[in-house]
Amino acid sequence: VASRTSGAPERASHLRHPRELAALKARLAEIADLGAIGALLQWDQSAMMPPAGAPARGHHAATLEKVLHERLTHPELARLLDAVEPWAAGLDPDSDDARLVRTTRRDAEKARRVPAELAAEIAEAGALGEQAWLRAREADDFSLFRDALAHHLELRHRYAACFDVEHPYDALLDDFEPGMTTARLRPLFEELRAALVPLVAAVADPDAPDTPAALRGDFPVERQRAAMVELATPIGFDERAFRLDPAPHPFAMGVALRDVRLTTRYEPGDLSPALYSVLHELGHGLYEAGAAPALDRTPLATPASLGVHESQSRLWENVIGRSRAFCGWMLPILARHFPGPLGAMDAEKLFRSVNAVRPSAIRIFADETTYNLHVVLRFELEVALMEGALAVDDLPAAWDDGMLRLLGVEVPGPAHGLLQDIHWGAGMIGYFPTYTLGNLIAAQLWERLRQDLPDVEEQLARGAFAEVLGWMREHIHRHGRKFEPAELVRRSTGTDVRVAPFLDYLRSRLDDAGLLGRTSAPSST
Ligand code: ZN
Repeated sequence: VASRTSGAPERASHLRHPRELAALKARLAEIADLGAIGALLQWDQSAMMPPAGAPARGHHAATLEKVLHERLTHPELARLLDAVEPWAAGLDPDSDDARLVRTTRRDAEKARRVPAELAAEIAEAGALGEQAWLRAREADDFSLFRDALAHHLELRHRYAACFDVEHPYDALLDDFEPGMTTARLRPLFEELRAALVPLVAAVADPDAPDTPAALRGDFPVERQRAAMVELATPIGFDERAFRLDPAPHPFAMGVALRDVRLTTRYEPGDLSPALYSVLHELGHGLYEAGAAPALDRTPLATPASLGVHESQSRLWENVIGRSRAFCGWMLPILARHFPGPLGAMDAEKLFRSVNAVRPSAIRIFADETTYNLHVVLRFELEVALMEGALAVDDLPAAWDDGMLRLLGVEVPGPAHGLLQDIHWGAGMIGYFPTYTLGNLIAAQLWERLRQDLPDVEEQLARGAFAEVLGWMREHIHRHGRKFEPAELVRRSTGTDVRVAPFLDYLRSRLDDAGLLGRTSAPSST
C-alpha cells in the first residue's frame, strides 16, 4: 500500500530503510513528548501556578525551548532524514510516512535557518516586551511600550531575513499559518473590508449592550460549571479525557490525544463569557483530541495551523452556538440550571440577543459582523510597520484613524486601542490574521457540511452533534498536520480559502435574526 511503484529497486529500498525510519520516529516521539511537557507547563502557568512561580517557570520554559531546538537541529536527526528521504520519495505522497518525512524536513529546515542567538533574543524580547506592554496598558500610555515594539520589529526583520521570502511578513505568517503569504491574504482582506464596512454601518445597533442582554442576570458562579458540562458533553466533552478549569483568559491546551485542558471564565452577572468561551475552547479541544491515533507522538499529531484551529472553535462558538436551532436546544437545559433569569425566556429572544451587532473598541467583545474588521486593521498596520511605510511613533494615530474608518468607533485611549491585546507585547506579529482565516474556513466548512448533512439544523435542534463532529473528524481532525492548511481546505471543501461563504453565512444569519431589514440586498445564494 505504501509504494506507488512495484519494481524491485523500490522494494529493496523499502527493506533497506525501516531501521533508520524507526530511529527517526523514536527521535520524533521524544520531541513530541517534550512539546507535550511544554504544553502542560503552559496550561499550569495560565490556570494553576501561584504568581510567585513566574520567574522559575520562565527558566523551565527557556530550558525546554533550548532542548527542543537542539533536538530539532541535531546532526543525527539530519542524517536520518537524509537517509529516509530517497525511500520516502517512492511512497504514496499522501501516506503518513511520506508526510511525516516532509513535515519533519520543513520543521528542521526552519529551525536550522534561525541562529540560536537570534531565537534566544526573540524569546527574551517577548518576555520583556510583555512586561512593558502590561505597564503601558495599565498606565494607558503607549510611550511606555514604544521601544519594546520597535525592538520586536527589528528582531522580526532579522528573523525574516533568515528565510527566502517575497515579503518579510510572509516569514512571520508562516509561523502561525504555514504556507500563507501576504500576497494571498491581501485580496481576501480587501474583499472582506469592502463588504463589511457598509454592512456594519447598515445593521449596527449602537444601543445594544456589549454582551447579550438575554444572558445577563443572576448566574451563581458555583452553578455555571455544571451547566457548561451538561451542554458540552453531548458535543464531545468527556470528563475522562478533558478538564474544564477557570482561567482569567480562557484557552484550550492539548497535552495528549486523551488529555485536553479547557478553561473558561465565570461572571456572576453574565452567563455569556462562560457559555461562549466553553463552546469556543471545546471546538479547539475536540480538534486537539481528534488526530488519528496512528499519528500520536509524531509531529503530525498536532493541528494544521492556528487558522484551521480557529475554524473549529468558531464553528462551535458562532456558526452552531449562535444558531436558532442550537439556541432552541440549549435554552431548556440552561433554564433548568438558572430558572431565575431564564425560566421565562423565549428561544427566539435568546437567538436574537446572541446575534446583536454593536461596534466596539475591543476585539474580544466583538460580534461576528464587526470582528473581522478588528483583524483587518491589525493586518494592515502590521504589514505597514514591517514595510516601513508606517513609523512606530505614528502607530497610535493610525490605529485610532483605522477604528473610525472601519467601525465608526472612537477609541477612548491606547489601553482600549492598540494596547488591548497581548500579541504585540509578546512580539507575536503575523498572528492576528489567523483569527479571520478561522472565521472564513469555518463558514466554508459549514457550507460543505450542509451539503453532506442536509438535515443538520434538525440534528442541532434535538442536540444530536455526533454527525457534525464525525464530519469534522473525517475531513479535518484526523489529518492532524499531515497537510498544509491550504491543501487541507482544498481537500475538505474543494476550493482555496474564500470570503464568499462567510459573507453568505453572515447575511443569512443577520437576516434570520431580523437585522437586515429592508436596507440591504438579500443573501447572494
Ligand atoms: Zn481560539
